[in-house]
Amino acid sequence: MSSPFFETKIEFLKGVGPQRAELLRSELGIYRVEDLLQHYPFRYVDRTRFYKVNEINADLPYIQIRGKLIELKELGEARSRRLVGRFRDETGELELVWFAGLRWVKTAIRTNVDYVLFGRPNLFNKRYNIVHPELEPVSDENTLRTSALQAVYPSSEKLNARSLDSKGLGRLIKTAIAQMPDQVSETLSVELVHAMKLLPRREAIVQIHAPSDPELLRRAEFRLKFEELFYIQLRMQRLKKDRNARYQGPPFSTIGSNFNSFYKEHIPFELTGAQKRVIREIRQDVAKGSQMNRLLQGDVGSGKTLVALMSMLMAIDNGYQAALMAPTEILATQHYQNISRMLAKMPLKVALLTGSTRTVARREIAEQLQSGELHILIGTHALIEKGVQFSKLGLVVIDEQHRFGVEQRSKLWAKGDVFLPHILIMTATPIPRTLAMTLYGDLETSIIDELPPGRTPIKTFHYFDSAKPRIYQFMREEIALGRQVYLVYPLIEESETLDLKNLQEGYEQIVREFPDPKYKVSMVHGRMKAKEKEHEMRRFKDHETHIMVATTVIEVGVDVPNASVMIIESAERFGLSQLHQLRGRVGRGAEKSYCILVSGDKLSTDSRLRLDTMVRSTDGFEIADVDLRLRGHGDLEGKQQSGQVNLRLANLAKDGQLVQLARQAVLALLEQDPKLEAHNHHMYVDRLRDLNAQSGNWSRIS
Ligand code: ADP
Ligand code: MG
Repeated sequence: MSSPFFETKIEFLKGVGPQRAELLRSELGIYRVEDLLQHYPFRYVDRTRFYKVNEINADLPYIQIRGKLIELKELGEARSRRLVGRFRDETGELELVWFAGLRWVKTAIRTNVDYVLFGRPNLFNKRYNIVHPELEPVSDENTLRTSALQAVYPSSEKLNARSLDSKGLGRLIKTAIAQMPDQVSETLSVELVHAMKLLPRREAIVQIHAPSDPELLRRAEFRLKFEELFYIQLRMQRLKKDRNARYQGPPFSTIGSNFNSFYKEHIPFELTGAQKRVIREIRQDVAKGSQMNRLLQGDVGSGKTLVALMSMLMAIDNGYQAALMAPTEILATQHYQNISRMLAKMPLKVALLTGSTRTVARREIAEQLQSGELHILIGTHALIEKGVQFSKLGLVVIDEQHRFGVEQRSKLWAKGDVFLPHILIMTATPIPRTLAMTLYGDLETSIIDELPPGRTPIKTFHYFDSAKPRIYQFMREEIALGRQVYLVYPLIEESETLDLKNLQEGYEQIVREFPDPKYKVSMVHGRMKAKEKEHEMRRFKDHETHIMVATTVIEVGVDVPNASVMIIESAERFGLSQLHQLRGRVGRGAEKSYCILVSGDKLSTDSRLRLDTMVRSTDGFEIADVDLRLRGHGDLEGKQQSGQVNLRLANLAKDGQLVQLARQAVLALLEQDPKLEAHNHHMYVDRLRDLNAQSGNWSRIS
């Protein structure tokens, strides 16, 4: 049972009231006092140091500067409208920019007043600016701080307008802490708190909001992050156990003639050691009689599809059917062609079912599925969602999992059956271990960490914009050799219109650079209809065009073996894993392949490290690790919003070790007390129930 104090509705906290309560609920999901106390600072300001304008560089974190705003004006039209200000101290001038809340900024901010400015400098067009800075009039309060570490809370424009900015929220939190009872219930067992030397819960809550010193802040963070990760793991492990107890999978007890003859007669090469190991792992799992839920990770081209196919043969040998789902029609078609080709000499029936399958063919597929005549069905998500009836479905393979969260996965098995198909999820985006533990903690994992022999590694180069003429020359040479070229432009999320304009300009430039009508250029972007996109992709795939100008929509597994050059424009704007995925589009044929990263010449330390890593390494797991280390909370927040992972305090990029610790603690706990029945473990059951009940509040993984 959690303390009634934490359950108190937020409107009953002094200083809140019904209107602010409504805002806190709608803007921040704060319903109860506990939610407010879990509205953690996103940083702490070291208010002891002021910077000067001439000391600024692009690697500085959030800093404070004293000075005056000497001008404020509105620029741009419609979506690009913005406020731009000039901020000056005795050493120089700095540009300030606001894209949102312009009306509010215009009324709240004055020129020629002494301000303490707070923000993070960026380099833009070779000058420093600060986007959405905070400005406070100079006062004793902000220039003579006693405590060095002051909490800063995330807020929103609407909250700001109700004086619930960082400071206002801080005041409410202070009130709540003042009212917190001396004894609050623990959410972790005494033994665990002791063994891990954790701060007691109450002290951790106090210290995270109002640290007495950096060491106690560190310990408070440790305790609260550990708890957060612990409950994610506990939930995952319970989910997994629960599923194992409730569902059975078809036992594939024999290895039969299809598997054997395919293995011995129809694969024109030797399996890699990693492929063999993974096939063994899968084989052991599907023979047990429990249902398999497995994640298969491996870099592009590592031979996952083959492993999937051999797993499907295991199903068929045991009298079951298999299905393979891909995220798009073009990918499903590609799988269908590859698998049909590999199985051409075997007595097996494979069909393709997508949105464009005609009614007659659809009907035939339905009949053959029911009669059991059809062995393998390949298609898009529609395969499962439209309730296609199999006579005996034994295995579902899902390719390119990244659109498949826990919720969607659960759809596959929440159908009231006790007897469910095995599930194998393939991903070509290597996921660092700690991330995989969190996102897919309920799955077993297999990793193919070896590429088939004889691949010519892709050569990667980094050039600055000024080298464009050389790059165009290189493109002409490759095209003359009969190859094809991708040219990718970044998505700049602020404005779709701008993206399209960038892409359009890029396209026009290419057409200008390649005026000879023998050069054909394709263009694909996210705003095109799916049909148009597929049409253009297909033209490129069929070698009707030579250059594909595109945004990142081509990222997902489309295979054009003849494409040998991947050029990425403004490469400094891409994340590492995205660069790696894009690079994986080439190097799929036998030819020598190239990836050319083109960037501007002013690079931040992080951008440089990203580009250098790409040039140096082709190992997806290594790249994923660097990526995770480089990504600050900022990038992860994007992921969090997209619902992939939602953590309040822990940061998967930085807290890998804590993830491991939390997982070990959970496994040890469940080993010792699988049903959480011991009296000193009741808190876990209660807390899990609590957390589950507060959907929207609970660090949810969807
Ligand atoms: P992934 O799905 O992991 O990207 P694929 O299964 O599509 O990789 O394999 C990529 C290519 O490598 C295919 O042409 C496949 O036939 C080939 N291949 C797979 N395994 C091996 C192997 N052990 N030796 C040689 N070539 C292989
Ligand atoms: Mg593949």
